[in-house]
Amino acid sequence: MAGPVRRITILGATGSIGSNTLDVIARHPECYEVVALTGSSQLDKLADACERHRPRYAAVLDESAAERLSGLLRARGVETEVLAGGDALIRVATLPEVDTVMAAIVGSAGMPATLAAACAGKRVLLANKETLVLAGQLFMDAVRASGAELLPIDSEHNAIFQSLPAAFREQPYAMSLQDAGIAKIILTASGGPFRQRDLASLAAVTPEEAVRHPNWSMGRKISVDSASMMNKGLEVIEARWLFNAPADAIEVVVHPQSVIHSMVECVDGSVLAQLGSPDMRIPIAYGLAYPLRVATGAKRLNLAEIGRLDFEAPDLQRFPCLALAYEALRAGGAATAVLNAANEVAVAAFLESRLRFTDIPRVIAETLALPCDCDAASIESLLLADAWAREQAGALVDRLPC
Ligand code: NAD
Ligand code: MG
Repeated sequence: MAGPVRRITILGATGSIGSNTLDVIARHPECYEVVALTGSSQLDKLADACERHRPRYAAVLDESAAERLSGLLRARGVETEVLAGGDALIRVATLPEVDTVMAAIVGSAGMPATLAAACAGKRVLLANKETLVLAGQLFMDAVRASGAELLPIDSEHNAIFQSLPAAFREQPYAMSLQDAGIAKIILTASGGPFRQRDLASLAAVTPEEAVRHPNWSMGRKISVDSASMMNKGLEVIEARWLFNAPADAIEVVVHPQSVIHSMVECVDGSVLAQLGSPDMRIPIAYGLAYPLRVATGAKRLNLAEIGRLDFEAPDLQRFPCLALAYEALRAGGAATAVLNAANEVAVAAFLESRLRFTDIPRVIAETLALPCDCDAASIESLLLADAWAREQAGALVDRLPC
């Protein structure tokens, strides 16, 4: 690929998206230079990545993790400088020598550094959808004000970005959907592992069953979100902000094969889609190389082998989380921040076997129904809403039987 060498920070380098990003980068060493990597708990994996990619910095969450990582790196003769704490994440997201930041931390914990990268005018490769669910308006305002280049990595939003008219991509995020000639965004959803499971047995599903996604290999939190379809709900909110689309113009269709990654319906009745193997290296490479293309190692699509593509409407009785996300989006203000925080608490409790799968939407609905004083006018206020909702949802989890 011709073009300047891109200098990259990967926030959340040890996760599923982070590892896939490093995989794409390793295929094109002449195009990319890794400047900084961050991680939280998997320090051995972070040390492996530092040894392989020799970044200038590695950032972890606290001093004790920093000491352990420094020890691992010293033993391998790696000279990466180790930084610690939330400020360190922001520092590596805004380094002057970095032009591209992959935002791949899971949960709202990723928001401050992702927002900092946007404020610093970086090319932001956005996997951390929770940033937009928590602070969509403020984040998009920051992108517009700084001139940051925002490229969606979530496969559905990446598919939509690829399918939108060139005029939208040339002046991204300045145009409304309507101005771009788009009537509707159609997000596809696999339906996850429980699409056809007997409804009565859903209360007893285990974390291991919930994280076993039929098509995609992902981190545990997003895998549970996919099983409850909250992932699609978060993606509806993500699409609202990325594409300046009202809730009514965002539709979800279940497509179990995960071959069509999403579609746009134009005002003239044309429907445009992006297809590919369910492999996150494809949208990641799109973001890294944009506007060019690079090879990814992903399996090529063989439509004859796939044979058929199926579609069905989402079943909101089976997947109440999707309806809750639309409700929070329509309610506006801090409601989506509350939805996101309550979901993070409920999913973490489910993964620790402290909450039944079917009580995830119950915790979220009950938290959303409580009066919350916070608005969406500032990041401080949204973070207060996030903290408040975590407390309320935590108390609800403690009260429910498991
Ligand atoms: P993961 O759990 O595999 O990795 C998460 C990363 O975040 C790890 O590097 C971890 O060290 C770091 N992290 C976790 N908690 C942290 C904290 N409190 N502070 C700082 N760092 C922390 O998750 P993933 O599947 O790679 O997903 C990452 C993000 O990308 C999520 O927002 C997810 O919704 C989104 N996403 C993932 C996929 C996918 O295929 N995995 C697809 C679309 C979008
Ligand atoms: Mg997705």
